[in-house]
Amino acid sequence: MKMNIIAGPCSAESREQVLETARGLSLIGVKEFRAGVWKPRTRPGCFEGAGKPALEWLREVQADFGMKVCTEVALRSHAEACIEAGVDKVWIGARTTSNPFLVQELAETLAGTGIPVLIKNPVNPDLELWTGAVERFRRAGIEDVSLVHRGFSTFEKVRYRNTPDWQMALQMRARFPELPFYCDPSHMAGRREYIKEISQHALDLGLDGLMVESHCRPEKALSDAGQQLTPADLGAMLQSLAERPEDGGDEIFRSSLSELRGKVDEVDGSIVRLLARRMDLVREIGRLKKDGGVSVIQAGRWEEVAAKAVAEAGRDSVDGAFIARIFNDIHEASIAEQNKIIQQ
Ligand code: PEP
Ligand code: MN
Repeated sequence: MKMNIIAGPCSAESREQVLETARGLSLIGVKEFRAGVWKPRTRPGCFEGAGKPALEWLREVQADFGMKVCTEVALRSHAEACIEAGVDKVWIGARTTSNPFLVQELAETLAGTGIPVLIKNPVNPDLELWTGAVERFRRAGIEDVSLVHRGFSTFEKVRYRNTPDWQMALQMRARFPELPFYCDPSHMAGRREYIKEISQHALDLGLDGLMVESHCRPEKALSDAGQQLTPADLGAMLQSLAERPEDGGDEIFRSSLSELRGKVDEVDGSIVRLLARRMDLVREIGRLKKDGGVSVIQAGRWEEVAAKAVAEAGRDSVDGAFIARIFNDIHEASIAEQNKIIQQ
């Protein structure tokens, strides 16, 4: 398995739970152990972590199993305690990446210690905020930075706890191709049964590693009980992932692939040309509306356009919801263009 694995419980709950989980993970070959010592809970009153005493348990994990240990830091005091306890790596949680004040404070506290930092994406899909966090650590002279994609929280309830939005993750990867890029399938999934498919996707995308939650008794976990795997189940899951080499296959496979890709490129070119032609017409209509003194939006017209597109999608067996989304974007861009013309 090419991917680097960081695994461990959501929270360090007790010495026994930490050591038993670490023992199980060391048996399946995991070299880096994660456990939350301070837990940023969305609502108060939930288990908020064992705090500083748990750092002692992490030292035992280092000593007994030769594993590297990492935990989440959100405040200067957390980072100071980790430095003192000899924690090997720290991660910045999604709720913290969202806050530039905290990120700046952590960057200043960790500067010069040589402790590597994993930066999870912010809760909301904001690449600038994620990028800003990377920049703050780098400006503090911290070069050993990795990214962790844990999905984005959304209001609408989807299959997973967090929407993967892989496209955004790949954009972030393109911004920082030199940084190791991890996926956290546990928080993305929210439920054990989805962890494998997400991990496989991360592997297929060529990501560098997984940060995954594992607990010796998941059903008894004090946080994120539904999404943790026993070390044995994690081992089996990792074994079951299929490595699909990026450039494998024989001559026939490669030439068919490149032929099909050529056709896709051609279609993409036509889509762009058609959209440009459509936009020309939209501008012409905009000028006409301006001269005629009517408003940009005529109620009813858009519903008609969208309904026609969705009906056509149905006939061509394309997903109607997908077409509706695209047409919504097209509509928005068209209105913006016409507004520009009317305001000139
Ligand atoms: C965690 O890793 O346990 C955690 C709280 O994750 P996130 O910051 O991604 O929600
Ligand atoms: Mn968790």
